[in-house]
Amino acid sequence: METSASKDSSAIEDFGIDYAPAIESTSLLNIKEKYGLFIDGDFLDSSSSNSFKTLDPSTEKPLSEISEASSADIDKAVKAARNAYEKYWMTMSGAVRARYLFRIARHLQERSREFAVLETLDGGKPIKESRDVDLPLAAAHFFYHAGWADKLDYAFPQRKVEPHGVVGQIIPWNFPLLMASWKLAPALACGNTVVLKPAETTPLTALLLAEVIKDVDLPPGVINIVTGAGETGSALVEHPDVDKLAFTGSTEVGKLIQRSAVKRNLPLTLELGGKAPHVIFEDAALDQAIEGVINGIFFNQGHVCCAGSRLLVQESIADHFIDRLQKRIELLRVGNPLDKNTDIGAINSKAQLERIDQLVKAGVEEGAEVYKPSCSLPEKGYWYPPTVLTGVQQSHRVAREEIFGPVLVVQTFRTPEEALEKANNTPYGLSAGIWTEKGSLIHWMAARMRAGVIWANTFNKFDPTSPFGGYKESGFGREGGMHGLAPYLKTKRKRSQ
Ligand code: NDP
Repeated sequence: METSASKDSSAIEDFGIDYAPAIESTSLLNIKEKYGLFIDGDFLDSSSSNSFKTLDPSTEKPLSEISEASSADIDKAVKAARNAYEKYWMTMSGAVRARYLFRIARHLQERSREFAVLETLDGGKPIKESRDVDLPLAAAHFFYHAGWADKLDYAFPQRKVEPHGVVGQIIPWNFPLLMASWKLAPALACGNTVVLKPAETTPLTALLLAEVIKDVDLPPGVINIVTGAGETGSALVEHPDVDKLAFTGSTEVGKLIQRSAVKRNLPLTLELGGKAPHVIFEDAALDQAIEGVINGIFFNQGHVCCAGSRLLVQESIADHFIDRLQKRIELLRVGNPLDKNTDIGAINSKAQLERIDQLVKAGVEEGAEVYKPSCSLPEKGYWYPPTVLTGVQQSHRVAREEIFGPVLVVQTFRTPEEALEKANNTPYGLSAGIWTEKGSLIHWMAARMRAGVIWANTFNKFDPTSPFGGYKESGFGREGGMHGLAPYLKTKRKRSQ
C-alpha cells in the first residue's frame, strides 16, 4: 500500500512561498571531450583504443569520453608505479613526501569549487554536499596524512616500518574524489606508490586530480589513474607485481577480490557494504533525532556505505516519530543537483535506480507499507524520491540487503535488549547510531553493538583522524587515523640494542 503526505503538510506551501533557484555555475569547468589514462605522469590513449561515456545522471547528457584501460595498460601503470617506487618515492624522506601531500591538499582547496561542481555533474549529488562535505574532507585527508609522513616511527614505537611497494586501489562511485583521497593519502604518506581505478560512472574528478598531481610536480608514476569498468579492476587485482590491494565497494566484488588476494597472500583492506541500525529510544531529543535520521539516510541519496538505513524506533513513540519524520521528509527538495537549495540529487546510474526500485517492490510484495512525499521528479535523468518502508519484518529482503538509495526501512522495539538484538541481526557491521538522553544506555548499547563506527546523538560525522571500517560482511582493515596507516606498512619488531 502506498501513502503520501498531503500537500498542505508542507510549511512552505502553506505560506505559498518557494525557494528561488540558486544554480551553481558550471563556467569554471573545462571538461575535455576525451580523457586518456594517467600513467607515468602523462595522459595516454588506451592500448585497445576502447572508450566509454560518462554522463550527468540528472539529465542523461554525456559529459565526456573516457579511455578504457586494458590488461596491457594496467601492466604499464604497475610498471610505472614500480619504477617510481624504486627510483624516487622509497628513497625520499618522509618530510619530502609530506610536502607533496601538503601541496595536493592546498591545490584541492584552491580549486575546490571546480572539483565540487564536477563531482556534482558526474555523480548527481547535491552541490551543497560536494562543496561542504566531499571537498573539505578530501583536502583534510591529504593534510592529515601529510602530517604523518615523517612521523611513522612514532606511530609504531619499537617497530621498524616499511612501505609495501605498489598498491592497487579500487574505489566506488558514491564519493569519487573523497574515496580517492581517502585511499591515496595514507598510501603515499607511508611511502607506497599507487595504481588507482575509479568507478566507471564517476571518473571525472579523479582525472581532474591527475591534473593537480601534474601541477604539484609529483614524480611521474607515483600515482597512476586507470579508468575502466569491472574488467579493468579485475586486471589490477590479478596483476602479479602489485604488493597490496585496497577496495571499497560491494560485498560481492569484495569477496571476489579477497579470494584472489588470499591465493597470493597479498595484504588487503576491504571497505564494503552496510545496513546500519539507527536506534531511537523514547527519551531521545526528537527534533535532533529526526534531523539525524534524515541526514543518516538521505545524505548523498542514500548512496553511503554507512547510511542509517534501518530505523529502529521504540514502540512507545513510533507512531508520533514516524508522523513527524514524514512531515519533515515532505520539506526535502529533490531536483537539480546544481541548485544550492537541493537536498536530494539524482541517483548515480540507471542500474542503481533499477536496483533500488526492484528492492522496494520486493519490500512491498513482502508486506511493507510505502510512504513517498508529494514531490515531483524531473522527467529526464535518474530519480528516486525519499521513501520510508514501515511494517517491515526482520526476514524481509529490505531489512537485510543494502538498498544504497534514499529508502529508510522502519522497525520497532520495546526494550533495549530487543533493540540490540535487532541492531546486530544483520550480515553487515559498518556503522550504527544511538539516540537517547541516557549516557549509561549509550555505553551499554555501544559496547554490545557489532559495528565499526557508532555515533551517539549524531550521525555521519567524519574526520580523517578517526578510523573507519567494518565487522563481518562490511569488510576488514581500518581507514583514517593511526589505525589506517597500519595497512599501508609492513612492521617488524626492532631489535634491542
Ligand atoms: P561494485 O562493487 O561493483 O563497484 C566498486 C568498484 O569495483 C568499481 O570501481 C567497480 O568498477 C569495481 N569492480 C567491479 N567489478 C570488479 C571486479 N570483478 N574486480 C575488481 N574491481 C571490480 O559496486 P557497483 O557499482 O556494482 O554497485 C553495486 C552495489 O554495491 C550497490 O547497489 C551497493 O549496494 C553496493 N555498493 C556499495 C558501496 C560501498 O561503499 N559500500 C559502494 C558502491 C556500491 P565499475 O564501477 O567500473 O564497474
